Amino acid sequence: MFKSIPGDAFLQWRRKMIITGGRKVDFDWLLYIAAGVSWAKLQSIILNPETFISLDISTAELEFIWESHLKDQTPLQYLISKCPWRDIELEVSSEALIPRQETELLIDVALKKITNVDCGRWADLGTGSGAIAVSLAKSLSDWNGHATDISNEALELAKRNLKSIAPNANVRFSMGDWWEPLKRWRGSFDLVLSNPPYIPSDLIEKLEPVVKNHEPILALDGGKDGMNASRKIILGALNGLAKGGWLILEHHFDQSEKITSFMKNIGMEEVSFEKDLSGIKRYAICRRK
Ligand code: GLN
Repeated sequence: MFKSIPGDAFLQWRRKMIITGGRKVDFDWLLYIAAGVSWAKLQSIILNPETFISLDISTAELEFIWESHLKDQTPLQYLISKCPWRDIELEVSSEALIPRQETELLIDVALKKITNVDCGRWADLGTGSGAIAVSLAKSLSDWNGHATDISNEALELAKRNLKSIAPNANVRFSMGDWWEPLKRWRGSFDLVLSNPPYIPSDLIEKLEPVVKNHEPILALDGGKDGMNASRKIILGALNGLAKGGWLILEHHFDQSEKITSFMKNIGMEEVSFEKDLSGIKRYAICRRK
């Protein structure tokens, strides 16, 4: 339902909200995602405060969400159950990690590797909200897709996201640890992606409260050196991938060297890396012989 309010009253209210605490960029993000106030709309009302602005939800509802966020640092995405990512808007919940900006380019890196495969089989290991799986399903509509997760709640969330964003896609969801639920298709994957938990356990305590107190630790904690899951996934790719199939993994900002060496050491070919949107070496790439 649209609520139309005078621009000057809206701007005054926005100022009042911002000084109650929190970050201005987060408040404006909330205005945009929850109430449909885009940056352009905001600029136009700042320039023309005598006009009216329409909001998709009431200021009272927005205040309630903002106060809940300030009270215990619950991520805004969880409070409004939404997160825009690449060109899609995903449902999110505390059962899965909020899709991150650093993961966005993983899809482009992957699609570039398979430009000459018309129809193949992909998998997203540890799908969480399904961000990667839904994006692949959208781009590779003739392929067979698989998404796995050890959390049934995360799988249910990913299924809902697929259903609302790419309802006709051919994606199978399986519960289990990394490659484990995909035994039946072992050796047939042309493309496997994963954003596994990769933060070293000792660093979890140092994360922001908005992350460490609300997001699933299972999706963040990668063990002592942060690479427990990554090693399992790479080892599984040795016979999980089809011959010539690609594995592309996201990792922590300082793991590129170690992950790519591990890939080489176990006999993977065409090992390389790519950087994320911030210029950090973020994705490790390899191919089965
Ligand atoms: N990139 C995320 C963060 O730094 C971590 C995601 C992960 O462990 N896969 O918060």
